[in-house]
Amino acid sequence: MFDKILIANRGEIALRVIRACREMGIRSVAVHSTADSDAMHVRMADEAICIGPPSATDSYLSVPAIISACEITGAQAIHPGYGFLSENAAFVQILEDHDITFIGPTSEHIRIMGDKITAKDTMKALGVPCVPGSDGGVDSLEEALRIGKEVGYPVIVKATAGGGGKGMKVAQTADDMKSAYQTARAEGKSNFGNPDVYIEKYLTTPRHIEIQVFGDGKGKAVHLGERDCSLQRRHQKVLEEAPGPAIDAETRARIGKICADAVANINYIGAGTIEFLYENGDFYFIEMNTRLQVEHPVTEAIFGVDLVREQIRVAEGYPMSFTQDDLEVNGHAIEVRINAERLPNFAPSPGRITQYHAPGGLGVRMDSALYDGYSIPPFYDSLIGKLIVHGRDRPEALARLSRALGELIVDGIHTTVPLFDALLAEPDIQSGNYTIHWLEHWLETHLGEG
Ligand code: ADP
Repeated sequence: MFDKILIANRGEIALRVIRACREMGIRSVAVHSTADSDAMHVRMADEAICIGPPSATDSYLSVPAIISACEITGAQAIHPGYGFLSENAAFVQILEDHDITFIGPTSEHIRIMGDKITAKDTMKALGVPCVPGSDGGVDSLEEALRIGKEVGYPVIVKATAGGGGKGMKVAQTADDMKSAYQTARAEGKSNFGNPDVYIEKYLTTPRHIEIQVFGDGKGKAVHLGERDCSLQRRHQKVLEEAPGPAIDAETRARIGKICADAVANINYIGAGTIEFLYENGDFYFIEMNTRLQVEHPVTEAIFGVDLVREQIRVAEGYPMSFTQDDLEVNGHAIEVRINAERLPNFAPSPGRITQYHAPGGLGVRMDSALYDGYSIPPFYDSLIGKLIVHGRDRPEALARLSRALGELIVDGIHTTVPLFDALLAEPDIQSGNYTIHWLEHWLETHLGEG
């Protein structure tokens, strides 16, 4: 086993990895910016090292700073968490060249899946169903218009390098195409340094269903079912659940096998998520994330596995600790993302936490780096905690979520907790009857968002 792992991240996900390391008897190294000297991950790790000023570009995203931290502390491997450098192929290539183990897939797989056009081509060739649209990139407005006509409106123009909901524009009709095409290109270029775009049919009533896969890098892979992440605001997930309310065991086994076979075929190593839109019983691939997802705990809850531990094991060359036959769905889990944001506009609400109390009890997991007196710095993502509940079935999980939200205290700042209290009162949420557009529509009618 590794003696020491460096965690190139902060916040709740850094704690998540530190906890796995500690249970495995591996020492952990936290890295932090000057704004995070008092952060929980710094306190909880065995060692901590400052890697730069508050700006993420100069700290959590600084490859030289992170590699130096590895050298100084003697860490043999890096866990990237999610976000930051987790899907940066150039970074992983440097680690590969310097014999530092990256706890995640190879730089080649990250590169393939990081470019959505190449990812789609690859998945199509592996037998994964995709959204109808352009064959590869679209280089001119004329071509975009031709494809729009061919596929049928509405269509969505997507930046091949896009992520986090950026670089996607819907064209309802041919009249919108010019602006959608130009805006998606401009966003791709300014946010990701790549103006290339492609076009897909815009599905009007899909659910977002993603399949968790896991590979050993040697041709074996399994799937751990699906998560339904349809509740989104501005293409960002807000609440996730597993199993998906609209997916039955047979459908799960069918799409799960397609995904597991696809990643086994390319000798994929570690955790990955294959994202689909699901409409009228059909799956349409949209992208693959080559890392641990924010919402991985709902999968851990229903399968009773530790995905981070598993990532560390296979990174070191050990076989996976479970086979497909070992993996059985047990009950229902729901996660809500608690952000330091003020409703109704979701404006960032950093500041000092005057009182924090985490909920507890049977089937409740709170992944958060908050503590009494902690000051949330304004420089990073607004996610401050994930509340995950597990019950024997969906109604039990919903009741448990409501009970746990009632116990949670986060004073001193504004959070998105009131949103979840309100959502739990909705019949559609209680029955699991929602698509990817449900929340935007609800926010418009209830909070006047538009
Ligand atoms: P990102 O990398 O920015 O997360 P994705 O390709 O994963 O982008 O898409 C994010 C979300 O955007 C999806 O969950 C879905 O809500 C919406 N979306 C993407 N492609 C389509 C499509 N073809 N039709 C309808 N909605 C889409």
